[in-house]
This record gives sequence, C-alpha cells and structure tokens, in this order.
Amino acid sequence: MSNQITPSEGDSIVCNSCGQLNPAWRTECKNCGKRLMLGSASRSATLSTARNRILRPQLLERPGCVTAYAVLLGIIAAFAGLAGLLFGFTTMINREFNLAAGLVLSVVMLAVGGFYIMVSRGLWELKNWARIVIIVTSSIGLIGPVLSILVVLVSPTSAQGVDPLIYLCLVGVQSAIPGYFLYWFSANGKYFQK
Ligand SMILES: [Zn+2]
Repeated sequence: MSNQITPSEGDSIVCNSCGQLNPAWRTECKNCGKRLMLGSASRSATLSTARNRILRPQLLERPGCVTAYAVLLGIIAAFAGLAGLLFGFTTMINREFNLAAGLVLSVVMLAVGGFYIMVSRGLWELKNWARIVIIVTSSIGLIGPVLSILVVLVSPTSAQGVDPLIYLCLVGVQSAIPGYFLYWFSANGKYFQK
C-alpha cells in the first residue's frame, strides 16, 4: 500500500484519514480502505465539480477547417484593408476621379477588412455568432449559383453560349465551397460556445 497521494481526473472526495482523492462514486478510500465521509468540504467540492460540468461543458478543440477558414478570412481582411488604404491615398494624391466617391469606396473596403478581422477572430475563439455569420454569408453566396442553375434548367439557351451541361457543372463547382461551408457550420454547432 502506497502513501502517495495520487489524484486523477474526476476525483472529488478527499479521504479524512489519508488525504487520498477519490472518485465521487466510491464509498471507501481507494488508498487506505477507510469509509469515505462526505464532509462539508468534500461535498462542496463534489457539488462545484458537478456544477462546473453543467455550466461549462467540455469545449471541443477547434477543428482544422475552422482554423483554415479563420486564417483565410484574416488574409482577406488584410488585403481588403490594404487595398482600402492604397485606394484612399491614390485617390487623394491623383485627384483624377471623383474624390468623394473614391474616399467612400476606400472607407467601405476598410470596413469590410475590419468586419472580416472580427469574424476571423470570432471563429478562432469558436464564438457562435461567428458561426451564424458564416452560415448567413454562405447562404447569400449560394443564391447566385442556385438562381443561374434554375434559369438554365428552365431555358437551356441562356447558358451564355456554353453547352448547358457544362454550364451546370461549372455552376455546381462554383457553389460547392459555400455549399460545403453552409452544411458544415450548420451541422457542427457543438464546437461553438453558445
Ligand atoms: Zn484514505
């Protein structure tokens, strides 16, 4: 019999005679065999463990595709922000076209960059609102392809000079990415904090 106190995960009852931590289901100490008393201290430990389990369900690790999406959004955000800044500067320096319109466009690009950074960070931190944003933007991204599929199905001559079948394949490929993300983020809410 060892005197070593060896706590392991899930242990919550402290033995009054030897100090060994025991799992909540035990009635006798696994180290010294004495009957375990649910004293006030150990009972509150058991309760707080149970409460933690209810309030903070174990958060799953961030899946690789969420990491990839967050990084991709971060890169897009960086480019949008950079483009916005460059566009703003060149508009002010060259003054070749409408200054106000140029500045508005520049501000819009900066805003898009800021929004993407926010969503990227939200995804990285597994926030549920970021998941909703991805679901909504993926749905919006699918509207165009789905509409053009319907149009070509109704009147095959409208396939922009391409064979209707090839056109449908191209649009199918185009809708695969937003379609996949729409499916994945809808089905995998378990990874995200409520
Ligand atoms: Zn003991």
